[in-house]
Amino acid sequence: MFFAIPDLEREPIQFSVALPPKAIDFGGEAEQVGDLTSEGRAEVLHEHRGPKEIVPDIRLKGSLRGTFEAPCARCVEPVRNEVAGDFDLLFRPSGVDAEGSEHSISTPETEIGYYEKDGLALEDVLREQVLLSLPARSLCQPDCKGLCPRCGQNRNEVACSCEQGPDDPRWEALSGLGSRIKH
Ligand SMILES: [Zn+2]
Ligand SMILES: [Zn+2]
Repeated sequence: MFFAIPDLEREPIQFSVALPPKAIDFGGEAEQVGDLTSEGRAEVLHEHRGPKEIVPDIRLKGSLRGTFEAPCARCVEPVRNEVAGDFDLLFRPSGVDAEGSEHSISTPETEIGYYEKDGLALEDVLREQVLLSLPARSLCQPDCKGLCPRCGQNRNEVACSCEQGPDDPRWEALSGLGSRIKH
């Protein structure tokens, strides 16, 4: 869904969408399960920066909800994450806050985004909001035992027999040291 400035100038747009998986490319970091739903309102806010300079900002306020799967950081089994939240965002035309601009206004309490050319794609906003909401590192359970570094089996499911043996030369050096101290 694209919010074009001329349309928003006419009147604010109420939106309610249900996007199926693959409608948004999450770049392999997370897989969408079922529809991603979002509803809210887009409008133009005119930012008066001087007697002649009026900047058309887009304000996007709404909510989103969806389910995502990402591989567990230790055992790579898929982990489900429910994403649900509200957003209230402001987008300026790109280039308007270019470096050296005399009229650059800093609003530290608001996170400012930028839109290209003549409007804003809802999908781009939702992609960013979802990626911000997902944990940086997913674990299937807090004490996931991960994959065995020697045989590659999932140690949450099987107790493989190679668990006792050292699998790293550094451990071998340490165990050698241990036995020397003992003797
Ligand atoms: Zn795991
Ligand atoms: Zn093993």
